[in-house]
Amino acid sequence: MLDIKIYRTTEPKQKPTGALGFGKIFTDHMFIMNYTEGKGWHDPRIEPYHNLSLAPSAMVFHYGQEMFEGLKAYKGVDGKNYLFRPDMNAKRTNETNKRLCIPYLPEEDFVQAVKAVVKVDEDWIPTEPGTSLYIRPFIIATDEFLGVAPSKTYLFMVILSPSGAYYSSGLEPVGIWIEDDYVRAVKGGMGFAKTGGNYACSLAGQVKAHNDNYSQVLWLDGVHRKYIEEVGSMNIMFKIDGKIVTPALNGSILPGITRNSVIQICKDKGIPVEERQISVDELLEAQKSGKLEEVFGTGTAAVVSPVGKLRYKDDVMTIGDGSIGKVCQMLYDTVTGIQLGKLEDKYGWRVEVK
Ligand SMILES: *Cc1c(COP(=O)(O)O)cnc(C)c1O
Repeated sequence: MLDIKIYRTTEPKQKPTGALGFGKIFTDHMFIMNYTEGKGWHDPRIEPYHNLSLAPSAMVFHYGQEMFEGLKAYKGVDGKNYLFRPDMNAKRTNETNKRLCIPYLPEEDFVQAVKAVVKVDEDWIPTEPGTSLYIRPFIIATDEFLGVAPSKTYLFMVILSPSGAYYSSGLEPVGIWIEDDYVRAVKGGMGFAKTGGNYACSLAGQVKAHNDNYSQVLWLDGVHRKYIEEVGSMNIMFKIDGKIVTPALNGSILPGITRNSVIQICKDKGIPVEERQISVDELLEAQKSGKLEEVFGTGTAAVVSPVGKLRYKDDVMTIGDGSIGKVCQMLYDTVTGIQLGKLEDKYGWRVEVK
């Protein structure tokens, strides 16, 4: 157990009243803890949200040794505050840390830190339908050193941002650009890690897609540019001929917690799921023969995001008839139902913040 000191703000901010959007508003407090080689993680504390003071030579600015996580706190229908599977974020943190030579962070300490800061700022959890308190844990390397080596000091922080409903009026299908030039990750690289570098290298592809009015990029594998990997910040699933097909966790895609939850729910509802390699050619074939029934992304931000249109080179595939797929809608209702306490949680995924 961490002995977390709490320093409360004496100047609480005005709570937002208008549209929240995403990632622009921050709460009154943050969690912060230091790491020093030889001493381990120390000085866990909750402080007023504030700017950091770091040397320009701090290692994170130069070689990108950092990691992050993303999860949400929800106001349940019973008025209690809930997290969704925070133990999975804690486990994934250490998968990422290992790849980036960031020290191990005990999983119970991660969860305790998240719960503690959410508890202090619980009044910031928005209550409108679809809204939530986005939680951003992250670690940065802070040694003042321009040499290339793992840092000996780090900061672990957790900041909180009230965020608006992803969907204002029901699920909305998006257009996706299958990128055939830039790649995001390769096996042996850090595609499975949640780290800023994967996003830095995704920006150029994203700009290309946006310029053509597509909202997200679907990445292909880095070697053959042939096999489907994942969408910007979501995993991808296809319903082909009655089965859910999704790329297997092959080392270059992010192991999404939503992906894992959705696969479990499908299996329990008797919907067959195949985790395997899937080529863009197979997708084009399935679409031509009318067997590509649904396409959707999965991730914490949107839960599920139906795809209405997929562009690959000169082909534009339209998915279904523009309405939301049955499986996609069922998954949205089931996951959000469990998160908010509208449905029984037989999995033990909902975790109360007390
Ligand atoms: C975070 C993330 C996801 C989704 O993971 P969830 O745990 O479901 O939120 C998918 N792909 C990438 C690249 C991500 O960073």
